[in-house]
Order: sequence, then C-alpha cells, then structure tokens
Amino acid sequence: MALAPDRPVGGVLFDRDDTLVVDVPYNADPHLVVPVPGAHRAVERARAAGLRLGVVTNQSAIAKGLATRAQVDATNARVDELVGPFDLWCVCPHDAADGCDCRKPRPGMVLRAAEVLGVPAAELVVVGDIGADVAAARAAGAQGILVPTPRTRQEEVDAAETVAATLDDAVSLVLAQRSAPVA
Ligand SMILES: [Mg+2]
Ligand SMILES: [Zn+2]
Repeated sequence: MALAPDRPVGGVLFDRDDTLVVDVPYNADPHLVVPVPGAHRAVERARAAGLRLGVVTNQSAIAKGLATRAQVDATNARVDELVGPFDLWCVCPHDAADGCDCRKPRPGMVLRAAEVLGVPAAELVVVGDIGADVAAARAAGAQGILVPTPRTRQEEVDAAETVAATLDDAVSLVLAQRSAPVA
C-alpha cells in the first residue's frame, strides 16, 4: 500500500516503543534500550533525504508513578543516541483517564510537532506499531503507516490505510512518495 499520491511529505514522526526500539513495558532505564533491527538505517535514510524527523511517544509510566520524567528523558536520550538524532521529541506523560489532548490516539503531539518542525500536519507521516499511532495521525490530518509486530491486533492492521512490513519499508514508502511528482 502506498501513501496518498497527491500529498507532499516534509517530515516523519516515529512512535518509540516497538517501532524504533524493542518494547520493554514502562521502560525508564537507558541500559535496556535495544533498537529494532534496521531502525538506525531506516531513520538515517529518512534524514539523508532531507526529511524533518520527530518522535511522538506515550509514556504513561510517568502518570502511573512508575518512572520519573527525568528517567524517561534519559531513556529517550539513549534512543536518540542509538537510532537518531531526531529534530524533536514529544512525550505524553499522562494516563488514559487524564483526558489530555496529547496521548495518542489524540492528535496533540502530531499538531505540536507540525508547529515546532515548521511542517504542516498534512505533510507529516506518523509511523507506529499500533492503531493509536495511525489514529493520532488521522486525527491531526497527517498520514499514518502501520508497521505491525506480532503484538499488533489484527483489526488494527485491517483498519490501517497504509501498512509496511518493516520500518525500512515504511521509510521507502515515504521516500517513494516524496520523489513522485505532486499532482
Ligand atoms: Mg509502540
Ligand atoms: Zn498527554
């Protein structure tokens, strides 16, 4: 599946857990950060193409009291070191019941990234492993690419407009769209 052929792409926002790095539930320990195989190369390809790059990550461990913001920031710094660098990190520290506007599937982090990166939301692509990632993209007017893992629910795969087998394939879809003539 390809992205919409008539839309330019200026930036890519990645989910963190199970998209860039192997998910360790509520991880706030930099030593436990292990990149998903091929993640560094995929991100590097996107950067080399001149795309603005960000990470949008739900970290309810903070709201749950399982991690401090400083621990999450340190973990993100390690991800940035191993897989990045990224132009922007957006973290939602809230829990599902908090009713914030940033927790995916809500659009807040994508809209904020658009503002900070100077790229219209419509020209951003969000890459993530679950339905909430692509739903946040849709809610913000961005495009989404689902890269499922064995833990992704089948109905989330069925509902996604664009699915890629790997992070590298997702970046290839973005780059193919980018070089395609805009109608
Ligand atoms: Mg994830
Ligand atoms: Zn939030």
